[in-house]
Amino acid sequence: MDASFKKLLDISKELALLGYAQGVLGWDEQVNMPATGAPARAEAGAYLAQKAHEILASPQVGELLEKLSGWEKAKAPDSFEGASIRRMRRNYDKAVKIPAELVAEMSRASSEGFQTWLAARQEKSFRIFAPKLQRLVELQRQAAQALGYEKEPYDALLDLFEEGMKAALVEGVFQKLEAGLMPLVQAVAQHLERVDDRFLRGSFSEEDQWKLNLEALDFIGFDRERGRLDRSAHPFTSGFYPGDVRLTTRFGDTLTSALFSTLHEGGHGLYEQGLPAEWWGTPVGEASSLGMHESQSRLWENVVGRSRPFWERFRARVTHYFPELEERSVEDFYRAVNRVEMSLIRVEADELTYNLHIFLRFRLERQMINGQLEVKDLPEVWNQAVKETWGRAPTHDGEGVLQDVHWSGTSMGYFPSYTFGNIYSLQLVETARREEEVARGMEAGDFQPLGKWMREQIHKRAGLYSGMELLEKVTGRGPDPQPYLAYLRTKYQEIYGF
Ligand code: ZN
Repeated sequence: MDASFKKLLDISKELALLGYAQGVLGWDEQVNMPATGAPARAEAGAYLAQKAHEILASPQVGELLEKLSGWEKAKAPDSFEGASIRRMRRNYDKAVKIPAELVAEMSRASSEGFQTWLAARQEKSFRIFAPKLQRLVELQRQAAQALGYEKEPYDALLDLFEEGMKAALVEGVFQKLEAGLMPLVQAVAQHLERVDDRFLRGSFSEEDQWKLNLEALDFIGFDRERGRLDRSAHPFTSGFYPGDVRLTTRFGDTLTSALFSTLHEGGHGLYEQGLPAEWWGTPVGEASSLGMHESQSRLWENVVGRSRPFWERFRARVTHYFPELEERSVEDFYRAVNRVEMSLIRVEADELTYNLHIFLRFRLERQMINGQLEVKDLPEVWNQAVKETWGRAPTHDGEGVLQDVHWSGTSMGYFPSYTFGNIYSLQLVETARREEEVARGMEAGDFQPLGKWMREQIHKRAGLYSGMELLEKVTGRGPDPQPYLAYLRTKYQEIYGF
């Protein structure tokens, strides 16, 4: 092995070890730590982040990458060596382009932004938050300038989350999806009363729900010997190592609220468990992209967990713990978990209307970053757009422009990943179903072949490709909303009968 490449792998390992420590601290903070531990934890986390940044942005990494550029050309781009160098270069470039003072300033503005956002949401008043958001937008505009872009500043931020993604591409895909989605939403909106989920509301023992959730993880193939499930205020997944994957869930006001959180995080967890352990700590030892990660969570949460064959199999497990639901048929469960509500709150949105929330956020943050929308005008523009799409405006900023945590930090460019996750998941399923065994399994409620296919095609390839490259390699084309639209159309036309 080339000596410079070996050195690069050593540095990557060092970064992974720091990341490992940060991951464990972060998990512990959300699962176990008393709130009074926060000051020390924040300091420890910032220290590790600073160390990692120093190592990654060091001149030594720059020199190694320089030295390796000739050697790299002799390697295939999707070989372990070629992909490792490319990924390391991408991380290095981003780390050195943003000046240290700007990184520090963004970190400060994020913590202040978060605290102010909490207070503003409590008071339901955007005006309290506006000055902080103004500052956050300015800083992210500076970051976009520092990172560089061809067409528009927002492209630089998008690329942080999904390599190669461009705002014009996002808008094009979103327009196609929206054009197909709106007639469906309008048709369902006329018949909302046709689906009833009241039997899922009420009081259900959390202890029994817990057991049910563990069974759900077993059912989708999550290996609980190599991971675990805990509770936290906001569900999340931390993959420390393929043999140690932590998931969290939370109980909500319906019986299936925790179940779908668990299935969602379980999908993320399957990806993390499926990464090759021998690549751990190398530049390619991670998932290909956030959008691809989200395709796996949404696959198990929605495409599987909200399917009829899943309920044909899983209903008996639910009624085992909750015999009071014995009179409810598979059909009752299937319809109830697919009930459309037209919620104005993104995190409570159903599968059909979820993406409408993303279209709105993407378009507004793109305009803010590109300097076409003033922060002070945001609530008015938000409320107007919501009224046009949902038929009613938010009654206050808390259920409007202040509802999401994302804009209280420096995450602009992240929202589109959610919808791309949905789109990718159906493109992958369409491709996977060409295999007889996968298709037959999915009809029969046996999702093992589907899980195996994802492991081979997606998980095992880890970071050899960017998300969009992997999508194209596996499905033969780039982001295409048609399979997703066809799936939604079939499902909701049947359930709502129009
Ligand atoms: Zn997710």
